Amino acid sequence: MEKAEVMRKIEQEEIVFIQEEVKVDFDNRQQSPLGFQWRNQRYEVLEVLMMSKDLWENFNFLVLTNKGIFNLILVKDNKQLTISKSKWVLNYKVLDDVEVEHQHLRSSFMLTTEQFKDIINYHGHFCPELAIGCRVGLIARRELGINKQNCGGFFGISENMSSAIDAVQHLTGCTIGNKNFIAYDRGKHVYYFMKISREQKTQEALRIALMSPVINTQFEPDIEKKIVSGSASWQEINKYREKIYRSVQKILSLPEDSLFKKTITVLECPSEPFTEKYVNCALCGEIVAVNKTESTEAGSICFFCAYPNQRVNVVIQ
Ligand SMILES: [Zn+2]
Ligand SMILES: [Zn+2]
Repeated sequence: MEKAEVMRKIEQEEIVFIQEEVKVDFDNRQQSPLGFQWRNQRYEVLEVLMMSKDLWENFNFLVLTNKGIFNLILVKDNKQLTISKSKWVLNYKVLDDVEVEHQHLRSSFMLTTEQFKDIINYHGHFCPELAIGCRVGLIARRELGINKQNCGGFFGISENMSSAIDAVQHLTGCTIGNKNFIAYDRGKHVYYFMKISREQKTQEALRIALMSPVINTQFEPDIEKKIVSGSASWQEINKYREKIYRSVQKILSLPEDSLFKKTITVLECPSEPFTEKYVNCALCGEIVAVNKTESTEAGSICFFCAYPNQRVNVVIQ
């Protein structure tokens, strides 16, 4: 495997965490590991692919062995800085292509790695709610045949404003900006998708409701606080990452029926889309969409000039 390919795999989390203490033969002169013992098997280090130091001054080795590529960390004892007082932790294994293939087959998740990467890039990180959104987006695509080309003919609604709606909008193309997605902040992972009909007043919609508490990952508030304040150790960060990783994996691989209840309901069709026309508010002079103005003797005025007691606010829940 090329080194660039190894780095790509690590970046895309094509790894499996081990995090077990292991015995390592260390060549003090070369300052590199020669091999290690793990689960009654001997692993010979054929090449050190990378060596680095983390924020806590621990040595981090990426090694090619006779049985795959592993990440080994020499964790220093905080007080005793001698190697003898330190311990080796086998942190993770980089999955080879066959193992990655198996992982994909085991799950019913049908997004390509590229698509999933795009969604994570757009959202900023990967988290359990984003995974829920991926599952919902996939159901909408499959059941209604929504895609990026035809999404203008569909409408989506969510009863939450969580990370999930980034994935849902990304996968279906129904977005708030395109005026064919609405999000209500009701704290429920309930979603609706429907075809827009200009002739009918009402239309059947697919309703998807999350029924499984799978989203309740038991995160550790103490570790979260430490991570935010920058005082978490790498073990704590890894433990946290692994929890999220496992939770996401679970959400992406559970059978659809054990996660969601799907029903058909009837919803009102959205009214005719309007073409946005703007004017200056007669009071504050700021630009405002005509259909959002109030007519007064002074002329058309914006919502906030019409109702000075109302203001844009950040509601903390
Ligand atoms: Zn998120
Ligand atoms: Zn105004």
